[in-house]
Amino acid sequence: MPSTLGAMSAESSLAPRLRAALNAVPAYVPGKPAVAPPGITAYKLSSNENPYPPLDSVRVVLDKALDTINRYPDMSNVDLIAAIAAFVGVAPANIAVGTGSVGILGQIIQATCDAGDEVVFAWRSFEAYPIVAALAGAVSVPVPVDAAQRHQLGAMAAAVTERTRVVIVCSPNNPTGTVVHRDELEAFLAEVPRDVLVVLDEAYLEFVRDAAAPDAVQVWRANPNVMVLRTFSKAYGLAGLRVGYAVAHEAVAAALRKCAVPFGVNSLAQAAAIASLEAREELLARCDALVSERERVVAGLLDQGWPLCDSQANFVWFTLGADSSAFSAACQDAGLMVRQYGTDGVRVTIGEVEANTRFLEVAAAFGPR
Ligand SMILES: *Cc1c(COP(=O)(O)O)cnc(C)c1O
Repeated sequence: MPSTLGAMSAESSLAPRLRAALNAVPAYVPGKPAVAPPGITAYKLSSNENPYPPLDSVRVVLDKALDTINRYPDMSNVDLIAAIAAFVGVAPANIAVGTGSVGILGQIIQATCDAGDEVVFAWRSFEAYPIVAALAGAVSVPVPVDAAQRHQLGAMAAAVTERTRVVIVCSPNNPTGTVVHRDELEAFLAEVPRDVLVVLDEAYLEFVRDAAAPDAVQVWRANPNVMVLRTFSKAYGLAGLRVGYAVAHEAVAAALRKCAVPFGVNSLAQAAAIASLEAREELLARCDALVSERERVVAGLLDQGWPLCDSQANFVWFTLGADSSAFSAACQDAGLMVRQYGTDGVRVTIGEVEANTRFLEVAAAFGPR
């Protein structure tokens, strides 16, 4: 046997062969856990989580759901889908659920993209987008946000090619917090070919107070190539249970269900999501309180002289360039975990009142950049 062949077979036996597409998958950077310097309470402001504890009514339902965790969950999510459909005001056939909206994003790409197909989104935007695209062997087409940290919808429409299968519009945009407006979204949709799926990711919908923001369900109704993505993780405070939903036209919703992990949305998540929709007045009151806190933080920062973009979400974005690391370290020294994005900037979640107040002090001491 020639020695090279011997070497090759020895090498190929070292490890199973993996898809080359995985080499293009960026690693997801999770928010840092809260680490307390001695003597002070640490706060996690790095994952846009809801700082409130679960509602008592949700705890009661979860406790009851524990009785049957030896059984599989309802694979078709019948009760949950009925509850969401009634809440949104659409037919159950127009709802698909998944393990968080990140789970549904994966289903969307699986349902639409073959290797080499393109997914257009703004950048910076949600870190999961390039990951789910790369996992499917699809090609990410990031379109820079403008100086005000807003989607450049004109440039995004221009980036569509015949390989484009999906365009993701994230509003409010994570990590910058800016929203797209109704008129610019309509102009954009008029430019995008009807066979390209446009995903409106509304993970932070409940924190939006800008009257020019679109009603995404209305936009969905008017456009056969639009779908809406929402989650129970942020406003509804169920991030640990992993449940989100899509509002989609029937063929798309059916395709999403085909791509779901069977029994993916577990029985606790189904029960808690239904209970949370029932308790939504109480949960939305908490969102009002978080929005008030955002307004207090933003007003304080503007007073300090920080040049902020307009956040409509439960976080604030700082474009800091080379100062990103130092700012993040200053927060961490004060027991505040924030999310640094390389040398682009830092995102700070609106959290507990005490955390927000301490953050304002750290920002003042650091000085506006
Ligand atoms: C947090 C977030 C989600 C929600 O993720 P889940 O998987 O539902 O927890 C979706 N989109 C964006 C832009 C987000 O920031």
